Formats: sequence, C-alpha cells, structure tokens
Amino acid sequence: EMLGRAASRLSASHHRSQIITQLRQLNLQEYQSKGILDRNGCSVQKFVTASSLQEAQEKLKDFKVYEYVVKAQILAGGRGKGRFIEGPKDLGGVHISYKPEEALYATGEMIGRRLVTKQTPKEGVLVEKVMIAEGVTIKRETYLAVLMCREANGPVVVASPAGGVDIEQTAEVSPELIFKEPINIREGMTDEQARRIARNLQFKGDLEEKAAVEIRRLYELFLKVDATQVEINPFVETDDGRVFCVDAKMNFDDNAAFRQREIFEMEDTSDKDPREVAANKLNLNYIGMDGNIACMVNGAGLAMATMDAIKLNGGEPANFLDVGGSVSDEQIMKAFEIITQDANVKCVLVNVFCGILNCATFARGAISAFQNATIPVVVRLEGTNVDEGRRLLRESGLSVITADGLDDAAAKAVAAAANK
Ligand code: ADP
Ligand code: MG
Repeated sequence: EMLGRAASRLSASHHRSQIITQLRQLNLQEYQSKGILDRNGCSVQKFVTASSLQEAQEKLKDFKVYEYVVKAQILAGGRGKGRFIEGPKDLGGVHISYKPEEALYATGEMIGRRLVTKQTPKEGVLVEKVMIAEGVTIKRETYLAVLMCREANGPVVVASPAGGVDIEQTAEVSPELIFKEPINIREGMTDEQARRIARNLQFKGDLEEKAAVEIRRLYELFLKVDATQVEINPFVETDDGRVFCVDAKMNFDDNAAFRQREIFEMEDTSDKDPREVAANKLNLNYIGMDGNIACMVNGAGLAMATMDAIKLNGGEPANFLDVGGSVSDEQIMKAFEIITQDANVKCVLVNVFCGILNCATFARGAISAFQNATIPVVVRLEGTNVDEGRRLLRESGLSVITADGLDDAAAKAVAAAANK
C-alpha cells in the first residue's frame, strides 16, 4: 500500500531509493498483537474474535463477562472515535455494553461495514472481524510505547500519564507530559528505570511496582519478538487496582523475519498486491508500477539504474522484481510468472549483473522460464561466467533479444513494448 502510493510519485527522482528499497511493513491486527502479549505474560483482558454474527453468537455462549467491549479489527487506530459508513450514527469502532445482546447487535452492525477514522482513507476500511473483550473499569488511561529510535541509537520508552484517544493532542498541547527513557540495549531496563517510568505515568503506592513489572515485561517482549514498536494506548489503571494493556499495536523488524516465522506468518495480506505477497513468499521483492515493461533485476541499485534508463528512452516500467543474489531456477521461473501476470505488460527486460550469482545459473533458469513466453524478452547479462551464460541463451533456440549494456537494453525494451 505504501509502495502503491509511492509509485505515483515516481517522477520525483529523489524518491527512488525509497521506492526501490522495499519495506515489508508487517502489520498485525489488535487481536493478534494481544495474543502475543498474552502468551508472554503481559496483562490483557480475555477476548474472543468473530468474523460473523453467527460465530459471535456461538462464542458468547461460553464467554460471560460483566462488561462487553466490541472492537472492530482494522489496521488503523482512532477506532473509538470512528464512524461507520451508512452505520448507526452513534456507533464507533469500539462499543461498550453490559448485555450480550447488545454486544451482538454491535457485532452485526460492524462486520461488513466500512469504518472511517482519522487514520483511514476517506472511504474507510472494511471490517471483517471483531474482537469481543471483557471490559475493565478504567480509572486512568496512560500511554506507553517501546520503540527503536534512531536518535537514541537503541530502544526508548515513551510514556505519558495523559494517554488514551487524545494522545496526539497531549503531544501537541502538553509536550512536558511526554517522557522518554532511553534503554541501554546491552544492559537492559534497570529496576530504577522501570520505577521511574511507572512514576512518570503517575502510578501510586502498590501500583507503582505493578506497573513497573508490566513495563519490564513489555520491554522483554519487545526484544524477544524483534519488534521495532510496541505501543500500548491506553495502558490503564483499573478501579480495583490492576494494570492492563487495553489496546496494542506492534511493528516488527523485517530483517528478523527468518527467526520470527510464527509472527510473520500471521500477516493479514488481504489488502496487499497479490503479486507482492507471492514474491515475498519466495523471498523476492516485487514492486508494481503503471507502465508496460516488466523488469527482472538483481539489486536495488540496478533497479534504480534500469528505471532511469527506461525513462530516458521514453518508456515506463510495469514493475520490478528483484531476484537478489542467490536464486534458484525455480525462483527465476516463478519470478517470471509474477511479473508477466499483468495484462499491461508488453515486454520483459532482464537486467542482471551476476556477482555471487553465476550467469550460467541465471541463464538456465531464464531459459526454462521463457520457454512459453508470448511477449518479447530483452536480456542484458553481465558478470561472473558471462560467456557461458550468453552461449546458453544463444543456443537455447529461444528468441530472446540480447543487448549490450544498459542503455541498449532499455532502448530495445522500449521499442519492443511499443511494437507489441
Ligand atoms: P483506538 O485506539 O483504535 O481508538 P482503543 O482500543 O484504544 O481503540 O479503544 C478506545 C477507547 O475505548 C480506550 O481508550 C478506552 O477508553 C475504551 N476501551 C477500549 N477497550 C476497552 C476495554 N476492554 N474495557 C474498557 N474500555 C475500553
Ligand atoms: Mg488506542
């Protein structure tokens, strides 16, 4: 989605590196983040989830609580103050009631409608799932976040005693109520730091220790799951002297995907480009654009140079697929499938500079991938074992258009796309 928006700004060249260096941006729904918190000993209320009214009816049979909180599960905040398109005027994305019938009513009204909040687009986001949580009697709402901070060169805890739905306003109007505590990642959070954060959050008496324990757990969790952000808003104090994480938003470091498989598998990909999802599954990066030349490249730098060359020759890329350094034949086959799926694609430009990857390996993969190609394929191959790679392509009997150098390749691709 981020890349989709970025694509329309392509002409502004200083945005290029941002576009090509793909960020995965793993987003989890609240119920998934809270599941992680719960499994790691943090305090969250009991909850169930439902994707239909029937499912909610079934689940509420065994879920009897004093207060029911129905929460729309969308990947945006501000739900409490949000409104549904063509929904009941007084219904927001967070609905509190004391009767199961009322919780079911809210569930029925939320699922299938689009919720608009200050963080969503104007047309809102479709609600496909709700969380029904046990309500807690909130005495105070504070804000707590652990995040990786470039300035501090490590984790920082951001805390405010004035949390809840108006936190943005607090930050603007009373910045003195936002406290920052940098944590030394090697030494970890000290007891004294945890206590200080709890005091800044205005937890008094016994609650100071309870809050400090919870804060430390959240910090430990942040490290354990390779998060870049764990944001709890509100982090609450209840009437009966307990501390709860009432809302949770987590982000994760893409580079840790290999050791956080379970978490990355939870990803909700329903609103992502399916080609991007398919490429990610194969460990390849895909970026969709609006032109008609499909590009297979290796490396972000080469992707940028290829984009420039195509544009200088008057063409427009349809997409980029970065096959990276060590690909198998199968990955090249799949990569080719992914980039040619788009009906706009009139030509494929392969621009690969082999370093770690061997030209012969690439050529073999490309030959099997291009076997059934119905559109022109322009190949520019350089680097390790290039003579063998070129020979394989030449003798394959395929009608690939070979090119010498980047500019020649781009010119041939633009011409081929125009002829089609
Ligand atoms: P968002 O940040 O998207 O608006 P929150 O989960 O923070 O959603 O909910 C908004 C507000 O609704 C909270 O600040 C809190 O006042 C109230 N609320 C949410 N969940 C509960 C709950 N389980 N019990 C009591 N109140 C809740
Ligand atoms: Mg919130």
